[in-house]
Amino acid sequence: MSGPVTIAIDGPAGSGKSTLSRALAARLGVGRLDTGAMYRSVAWAVLQRGIDTAELDAVAEVARTLDLEVGDRVTADGTDITEAIRGPEVSAAVSPVAANPAVRAVMVARQRAWVAEHGGGVVEGRDIGSVVLPDADLKLYLTASPEVRAARRSEEGAEAVARRDRLDSTRALSPLEVPDGARVIDTGALGVDEIVEEVVAWL
Ligand code: C5P
Repeated sequence: MSGPVTIAIDGPAGSGKSTLSRALAARLGVGRLDTGAMYRSVAWAVLQRGIDTAELDAVAEVARTLDLEVGDRVTADGTDITEAIRGPEVSAAVSPVAANPAVRAVMVARQRAWVAEHGGGVVEGRDIGSVVLPDADLKLYLTASPEVRAARRSEEGAEAVARRDRLDSTRALSPLEVPDGARVIDTGALGVDEIVEEVVAWL
Protein backbone atom coordinates (compact mmCIF):
# COMPACT_ATOMS: atom_id res chain seq x y z
CA MET A 1 0.00 0.00 0.00
CA SER A 2 1.30 3.51 -0.78
CA GLY A 3 0.20 6.97 0.38
CA PRO A 4 -1.26 7.99 3.73
CA VAL A 5 -2.44 5.15 5.92
CA THR A 6 -5.01 5.20 8.72
CA ILE A 7 -5.00 2.43 11.31
CA ALA A 8 -7.64 2.16 14.07
CA ILE A 9 -6.71 0.19 17.19
CA ASP A 10 -9.31 -0.61 19.85
CA GLY A 11 -9.44 -2.91 22.86
CA PRO A 12 -9.94 -3.00 26.62
CA ALA A 13 -7.51 -1.75 29.28
CA GLY A 14 -4.19 -3.58 29.22
CA SER A 15 -4.78 -5.19 25.84
CA GLY A 16 -1.51 -3.73 24.49
CA LYS A 17 -2.84 -0.83 22.40
CA SER A 18 -0.15 1.67 23.41
CA THR A 19 2.76 -0.71 22.85
CA LEU A 20 1.48 -1.82 19.45
CA SER A 21 0.44 1.64 18.26
CA ARG A 22 3.86 3.08 19.16
CA ALA A 23 5.70 0.25 17.40
CA LEU A 24 3.46 0.40 14.33
CA ALA A 25 3.70 4.18 14.00
CA ALA A 26 7.51 3.97 14.24
CA ARG A 27 7.65 1.13 11.70
CA LEU A 28 5.45 3.03 9.22
CA GLY A 29 6.91 6.48 9.90
CA VAL A 30 3.50 7.99 10.75
CA GLY A 31 2.02 9.78 13.76
CA ARG A 32 0.22 8.14 16.68
CA LEU A 33 -2.72 9.48 18.66
CA ASP A 34 -3.58 8.09 22.11
CA THR A 35 -7.26 9.05 22.49
CA GLY A 36 -7.37 7.54 25.99
CA ALA A 37 -4.91 10.26 27.02
CA MET A 38 -7.42 12.85 25.75
CA TYR A 39 -10.27 11.50 27.91
CA ARG A 40 -7.85 11.13 30.84
CA SER A 41 -6.83 14.79 30.44
CA VAL A 42 -10.45 15.94 30.63
CA ALA A 43 -10.95 13.76 33.73
CA TRP A 44 -7.81 15.28 35.28
CA ALA A 45 -9.08 18.82 34.65
CA VAL A 46 -12.53 17.93 36.04
CA LEU A 47 -10.93 16.62 39.25
CA GLN A 48 -8.64 19.68 39.49
CA ARG A 49 -11.65 21.99 39.33
CA GLY A 50 -13.56 19.98 41.95
CA ILE A 51 -16.40 19.20 39.52
CA ASP A 52 -18.52 16.08 40.08
CA THR A 53 -18.46 13.80 37.00
CA ALA A 54 -22.28 13.66 37.22
CA GLU A 55 -22.46 17.40 36.45
CA LEU A 56 -22.75 16.76 32.73
CA ASP A 57 -22.84 20.38 31.52
CA ALA A 58 -19.92 21.50 33.69
CA VAL A 59 -17.85 18.50 32.55
CA ALA A 60 -18.70 19.20 28.90
CA GLU A 61 -17.61 22.82 29.33
CA VAL A 62 -14.22 21.60 30.58
CA ALA A 63 -13.86 19.39 27.47
CA ARG A 64 -14.81 22.27 25.16
CA THR A 65 -12.43 24.81 26.65
CA LEU A 66 -9.39 22.71 27.63
CA ASP A 67 -6.28 23.57 25.61
CA LEU A 68 -4.95 20.06 25.05
CA GLU A 69 -1.71 18.86 23.44
CA VAL A 70 -1.39 15.08 23.18
CA GLY A 71 1.93 13.82 21.84
CA ASP A 72 4.92 12.19 23.53
CA ARG A 73 4.06 14.51 26.42
CA VAL A 74 0.55 15.56 27.38
CA THR A 75 -0.18 19.14 28.37
CA ALA A 76 -3.46 20.76 29.43
CA ASP A 77 -3.66 24.58 29.58
CA GLY A 78 0.15 24.60 29.54
CA THR A 79 0.64 22.17 32.46
CA ASP A 80 2.52 18.93 31.76
CA ILE A 81 0.19 16.17 33.01
CA THR A 82 1.85 13.19 31.29
CA GLU A 83 2.36 11.33 34.57
CA ALA A 84 -0.62 12.74 36.46
CA ILE A 85 -3.18 11.30 34.02
CA ARG A 86 -1.94 7.75 34.74
CA GLY A 87 -2.70 7.99 38.47
CA PRO A 88 -5.48 6.02 40.20
CA GLU A 89 -7.75 9.06 40.74
CA VAL A 90 -7.86 9.82 37.03
CA SER A 91 -8.27 6.13 36.14
CA ALA A 92 -11.27 5.94 38.46
CA ALA A 93 -12.90 9.11 37.09
CA VAL A 94 -12.26 8.68 33.38
CA SER A 95 -15.03 6.23 32.42
CA PRO A 96 -17.88 8.43 33.75
CA VAL A 97 -16.32 11.45 32.00
CA ALA A 98 -15.98 9.48 28.74
CA ALA A 99 -19.63 8.37 28.92
CA ASN A 100 -20.73 12.03 28.68
CA PRO A 101 -22.12 12.51 25.12
CA ALA A 102 -21.05 16.15 24.88
CA VAL A 103 -17.50 15.24 25.90
CA ARG A 104 -17.40 12.54 23.23
CA ALA A 105 -18.63 14.94 20.56
CA VAL A 106 -15.77 17.34 21.29
CA MET A 107 -13.13 14.59 21.48
CA VAL A 108 -14.26 12.80 18.29
CA ALA A 109 -14.13 16.08 16.35
CA ARG A 110 -10.61 16.79 17.65
CA GLN A 111 -9.47 13.25 16.81
CA ARG A 112 -10.75 13.50 13.23
CA ALA A 113 -9.08 16.91 12.90
CA TRP A 114 -5.79 15.36 14.09
CA VAL A 115 -6.02 12.64 11.41
CA ALA A 116 -6.81 15.22 8.71
CA GLU A 117 -3.86 17.42 9.79
CA HIS A 118 -1.44 14.50 9.92
CA GLY A 119 -2.65 12.83 6.73
CA GLY A 120 -3.49 9.60 8.54
CA GLY A 121 -1.67 7.78 11.33
CA VAL A 122 -2.23 5.20 14.03
CA VAL A 123 -5.11 6.04 16.39
CA GLU A 124 -5.88 4.00 19.49
CA GLY A 125 -8.89 3.98 21.82
CA ARG A 126 -12.27 2.33 22.36
CA ASP A 127 -14.45 3.61 19.49
CA ILE A 128 -11.91 4.37 16.77
CA GLY A 129 -12.87 1.71 14.23
CA SER A 130 -16.57 1.92 15.07
CA VAL A 131 -17.16 5.70 15.34
CA VAL A 132 -14.13 7.94 14.86
CA LEU A 133 -12.63 6.36 11.73
CA PRO A 134 -15.11 3.83 10.32
CA ASP A 135 -13.30 4.07 6.95
CA ALA A 136 -9.82 3.34 8.36
CA ASP A 137 -7.54 1.34 6.05
CA LEU A 138 -7.12 -1.24 8.77
CA LYS A 139 -9.04 -1.89 11.99
CA LEU A 140 -7.48 -3.92 14.79
CA TYR A 141 -9.16 -5.12 17.98
CA LEU A 142 -6.71 -6.27 20.64
CA THR A 143 -7.47 -8.82 23.33
CA ALA A 144 -5.53 -10.61 26.06
CA SER A 145 -6.66 -12.80 28.94
CA PRO A 146 -7.93 -11.03 32.08
CA GLU A 147 -4.81 -12.28 33.92
CA VAL A 148 -2.42 -10.83 31.33
CA ARG A 149 -4.31 -7.53 31.23
CA ALA A 150 -4.45 -7.24 35.03
CA ALA A 151 -0.69 -7.91 35.24
CA ARG A 152 -0.06 -5.10 32.72
CA ARG A 153 -2.19 -2.75 34.84
CA SER A 154 -1.00 -3.98 38.25
CA GLU A 155 -0.68 -0.43 39.62
CA GLU A 156 -4.38 0.20 38.89
CA GLY A 157 -5.53 -3.13 40.35
CA ALA A 158 -7.51 -5.96 38.75
CA GLU A 159 -10.83 -4.85 40.24
CA ALA A 160 -10.50 -1.25 39.09
CA VAL A 161 -9.54 -2.41 35.59
CA ALA A 162 -12.53 -4.76 35.44
CA ARG A 163 -14.84 -1.96 36.60
CA ARG A 164 -13.50 0.44 33.95
CA ASP A 165 -13.91 -2.19 31.20
CA ARG A 166 -17.46 -2.90 32.37
CA LEU A 167 -18.38 0.79 32.28
CA ASP A 168 -16.72 1.29 28.88
CA SER A 169 -18.45 -1.76 27.35
CA THR A 170 -21.94 -1.08 28.69
CA ARG A 171 -22.31 2.69 28.20
CA ALA A 172 -25.11 3.85 25.88
CA LEU A 173 -22.94 5.86 23.50
CA SER A 174 -19.98 4.38 21.57
CA PRO A 175 -19.39 1.38 23.84
CA LEU A 176 -16.22 -0.65 23.48
CA GLU A 177 -16.99 -3.35 20.91
CA VAL A 178 -15.28 -5.20 18.09
CA PRO A 179 -15.79 -2.87 15.08
CA ASP A 180 -17.19 -4.25 11.83
CA GLY A 181 -14.34 -5.54 9.71
CA ALA A 182 -11.75 -5.51 12.51
CA ARG A 183 -9.02 -8.10 12.78
CA VAL A 184 -8.81 -9.50 16.31
CA ILE A 185 -5.32 -10.03 17.76
CA ASP A 186 -4.50 -11.80 21.03
CA THR A 187 -1.48 -9.83 22.24
CA GLY A 188 -0.77 -12.32 25.02
CA ALA A 189 0.19 -14.94 22.46
CA LEU A 190 2.69 -13.03 20.28
CA GLY A 191 5.57 -10.58 20.71
CA VAL A 192 5.12 -6.98 19.53
CA ASP A 193 7.63 -7.35 16.65
CA GLU A 194 5.78 -10.38 15.29
CA ILE A 195 2.47 -8.54 15.48
CA VAL A 196 3.90 -5.47 13.73
CA GLU A 197 5.16 -7.57 10.80
CA GLU A 198 1.83 -9.39 10.54
CA VAL A 199 -0.09 -6.11 10.54
CA VAL A 200 2.20 -4.48 7.96
CA ALA A 201 1.59 -7.46 5.67
CA TRP A 202 -2.17 -6.80 5.89
CA LEU A 203 -1.84 -3.24 4.54
O1 C5P B 1 -6.76 3.86 26.75
P1 C5P B 1 -6.93 4.27 28.21
O2 C5P B 1 -7.05 3.09 29.11
O3 C5P B 1 -5.90 5.25 28.65
O4 C5P B 1 -8.33 5.03 28.21
C1 C5P B 1 -8.83 5.62 29.39
C2 C5P B 1 -10.35 5.69 29.32
O5 C5P B 1 -10.74 6.63 28.34
C3 C5P B 1 -11.09 4.41 28.97
O6 C5P B 1 -11.28 3.57 30.11
C4 C5P B 1 -12.40 4.95 28.42
O7 C5P B 1 -13.30 5.27 29.46
C5 C5P B 1 -11.97 6.26 27.75
N1 C5P B 1 -11.82 6.16 26.30
C6 C5P B 1 -12.95 6.21 25.51
N2 C5P B 1 -12.84 6.24 24.16
C7 C5P B 1 -11.63 6.20 23.58
C8 C5P B 1 -10.47 6.11 24.36
C9 C5P B 1 -10.59 6.07 25.73
O8 C5P B 1 -14.06 6.25 26.03
N3 C5P B 1 -11.55 6.27 22.24
